[in-house]
Amino acid sequence: MTYRPFVGVLLVCALLPQAVFAQDLPQAKDSYFVDAAADLEARLAVRPNTGRARNVILFVGDGMGVSTLTAARIYQGQRAGQDGESTWTTMDRLPYAALVKTYAHDAQVPDSAPTATALTTGVKTRNGIIGLDQRAIENDCAASHGREVMTLFEQAEVAGLRTGIVSTARITHATPAAAYAHVASRDWENDTALTPEARKAGCVDIARQLVEWPYGDGLDVVLGGGRAQFMPSTATDPESPASVGLRADGRDLTGEWLTRRTGGRYVWNRAQFDAVAGDGPLLGLFQQDHMHFEVDRPLDAAGEPSLTEMTLKAIDILERGDRGYVLMVEAGRIDHAHHLGMAGRALADTVELDRAIAAVLARVDPEDTLIIVTADHSHNLTIAGYPRRGNPILGLVVGLDGKPTLAGDGKPYTTLSYANGPGAVAGDRHDPAGDDTTGLDYVQPALVAAESATHGGEDVVVRSTGPWSHLFNGTIEQNLIYHVIVHALGLGPARAAPAVAAARAGDGTPPQR
Ligand SMILES: [Zn+2]
Repeated sequence: MTYRPFVGVLLVCALLPQAVFAQDLPQAKDSYFVDAAADLEARLAVRPNTGRARNVILFVGDGMGVSTLTAARIYQGQRAGQDGESTWTTMDRLPYAALVKTYAHDAQVPDSAPTATALTTGVKTRNGIIGLDQRAIENDCAASHGREVMTLFEQAEVAGLRTGIVSTARITHATPAAAYAHVASRDWENDTALTPEARKAGCVDIARQLVEWPYGDGLDVVLGGGRAQFMPSTATDPESPASVGLRADGRDLTGEWLTRRTGGRYVWNRAQFDAVAGDGPLLGLFQQDHMHFEVDRPLDAAGEPSLTEMTLKAIDILERGDRGYVLMVEAGRIDHAHHLGMAGRALADTVELDRAIAAVLARVDPEDTLIIVTADHSHNLTIAGYPRRGNPILGLVVGLDGKPTLAGDGKPYTTLSYANGPGAVAGDRHDPAGDDTTGLDYVQPALVAAESATHGGEDVVVRSTGPWSHLFNGTIEQNLIYHVIVHALGLGPARAAPAVAAARAGDGTPPQR
């Protein structure tokens, strides 16, 4: 008789789920456990926003691959005197994310021209080509006629929205150009860059395309570098009197822009930028060439606004429209620092991009503004070794034993390195033990010699908040980003696409994958 209760307990145990409550777990008070549990609660409260987006802000970190994001997060935290590894950047806090396939129509590893075109037009195209479909041929003007695709910015202008582009690179550089230009070579930034064939076949340079852009009332805000592309070779630069413009056609495109735009303002230095107030189209070209890296900005003769300041100024003007706006903000020089093999400058420019995103989130309402943060493509930066927690991200690898980790050749090495680039050396590897590896001018070591480090071909990340941002999940093709934007804005989803595909199939082009 005494065994019956025991059998009863066994039966009950078999029927009931084996629940151990979280608060009873041995790890219940562990700070990692507590933080992640709180994070779960926050995530459970997130609801998809299926309202119409009034505005869209597309942030593009040029060359901002996943290693750059991670290294910049650590750098940002360490610069603030905090624990770098567990730092949350503003980008990190955006609720939705996806992996993005960046290959071009004809290339495993892309450049910014086809990738930016994917973001702004919804199609992939060939390396070097902007705003033309994959039937175009690089550097072939004649073959580009009739291959133009329409950009998000062109659609937005037609629909009565305001449009703006902001970049720290030349505003005629590939990524910003993908908002407004249609060109068989990303290098055709001014008339002297056109080939004889391109001139003969009637192609127009990128700077002229910006000024002559025929959609709506034109771009409402244009802020970046590249002044020389707009100035005739007969004009001296206002900031650097020893330099002249690049145009051989004698045209003063900034003057033409002012003539074309009622109430337009043109500024080229910080004081003029700061004085801009009220409504009206704004063109700002703050440097002959690219703008400075963020860390070098204080050195500029006439003063340059930061990416954050340009972004907020753009919103000041764009939000005065009746029907919302589309703004692209490019941190264009992350890519350039990587090409130089200078990870420090790339990380500092990534931190500045994060600051711009934070400023925007404090300024706009994510309820009606779709905010997207992505990269056009990656770079070949690597975070490697087993550095101990808190080790300076720009430093030599110091292991858990507190000593510099020695490589197979008996020398220490930096945590950040590149697969290729200017940091490669012939013969024996240089010993970096005495180097200031944390200096911003330091060129991180590379395996394969290359004058300029190349892009990387792995997926990048898109992160987002606002209407329809939940569509960014899993793994996506880069050109989907355009389609999500157009859907969120209600600009008429690409319903014409099947008809276009059918028409293309009829003219002998290969199936589009
Ligand atoms: Zn690049």
